[in-house]
Amino acid sequence: MAILMSLGAVAVIGCAYLAAIGFKGRVTTVGVDLGTSFSVVGISKGGKIQIVTDKFGHDIFPSIVSFQDEGKLFRLYDAMEYLSSDPENTIYNSKRFIGRNADADDGELKEYAATHPFAVEFVKSSEYSDVGFRIRSTGYENVSSLSIIDGKPLLSPEYVGTEVLRGLMSLTADFIGHNQVNKAIVAVPAKFTPEQRVATAEAYKKAGLKVVRMIEEPTAAAIAYDLHKDSSVHHIIVYDFGGGTLDVSLLYVAKGSVQVYATDGDESLGGSDYDICTEKLVQSKLHADSGVDTTDTDTGSASAVEVHFSCDPNDSTKLAEAVKKALSDNSTVEVVCTTGGARAGVAPARVTRAEFESACGELFERAMVPVDRLLTDLGMSPADIDEVVLVGGTTRIPYVKQRLKTFFGATTNINDSIDPDITVAFGAASIID
Ligand code: ADP
Ligand code: MG
Repeated sequence: MAILMSLGAVAVIGCAYLAAIGFKGRVTTVGVDLGTSFSVVGISKGGKIQIVTDKFGHDIFPSIVSFQDEGKLFRLYDAMEYLSSDPENTIYNSKRFIGRNADADDGELKEYAATHPFAVEFVKSSEYSDVGFRIRSTGYENVSSLSIIDGKPLLSPEYVGTEVLRGLMSLTADFIGHNQVNKAIVAVPAKFTPEQRVATAEAYKKAGLKVVRMIEEPTAAAIAYDLHKDSSVHHIIVYDFGGGTLDVSLLYVAKGSVQVYATDGDESLGGSDYDICTEKLVQSKLHADSGVDTTDTDTGSASAVEVHFSCDPNDSTKLAEAVKKALSDNSTVEVVCTTGGARAGVAPARVTRAEFESACGELFERAMVPVDRLLTDLGMSPADIDEVVLVGGTTRIPYVKQRLKTFFGATTNINDSIDPDITVAFGAASIID
């Protein structure tokens, strides 16, 4: 008995000691960036931030859920497989619809909805959203009691969010070795309305996660770079250029706290627009008499990275995106057409970064407009900005960075050392205490 008691005492003292030196035990809180196209989870372990990866090494996961018959659900990469085979029951971009109410569902949202292959209906799908996804699959009657038309259930955007989160939490459990995560630091867009925030919190709640803090995505990005700890930093621009939108935020830092002061952006400018101008460029090259431009003596002899891709007309946007991405790391790309994995009988085409910059020139101009307007509206000049933080995949394009550098000048630091896909989750995880 005495031995047991003293063992107990040792355990208590041990725990107190561990707590005193900052050992917080198991990971029970995550920092989450539930994104429009991709989501990311960060954890804090021994004071270090880690990004959750799956067994393939992915650290970003598509925010997609595929609803198959008999209630069989597929999430994230597993759901992505169904994008082409079952587009009507495979939901993506649900973040753009979450918490939208009747007043807010303006023509623009309806127009945007129409670009999706699944049915987006502007009817109340839950207490929180006046928009829902009508699917044809069976086995979802219990989750969509609000309206079933001809046996077709209506799913709310929160419900899709919850399922994305369940997928993320399952990966997190595999990553950390247990499933006791029950709290989340949640990042949301600065422009989210209170309704959108409440609906987002509901998605987390249903996934079994208590929202301990909600922070704005640009704030999380600034925190990821510890900019709030630098007393010489007052004004920060967070430039978030994703797949479909450009969000520019001006943050104000004082005494360690960060606030979003003003926002601007372009709701209809994103990486996918660069895919379109790249597609035109690539197609014109592929269909030129001679695929390889031999007149280009500057780059003609330079070693070009080869992009092997299907040149099937149905894949031409995907091919364009691959070329666009390759041009972020290489100044010349050679497109090698394949069919069923083997080289096709189409002559390879060479595309240079300079050609890409000129073909998409107008987009590069548009990408600077919100930055300029934001500062002008506030009567500020580029030199007033101490730091710029880059977020989103499209900021990997060298010319996007270069334009920002030129605009802000030498005294403004451009922060791009963290992978722009994970910055927000990294920042959210940094404030786990
Ligand atoms: P969102 O926030 O809209 O979910 P992301 O921040 O994930 O989007 O950005 C996705 C976009 O970034 C896509 O258009 C993708 O093609 C683009 N992208 C990703 N990597 C690169 C790269 N290396 N070069 C250029 N564009 C890229
Ligand atoms: Mg993003």
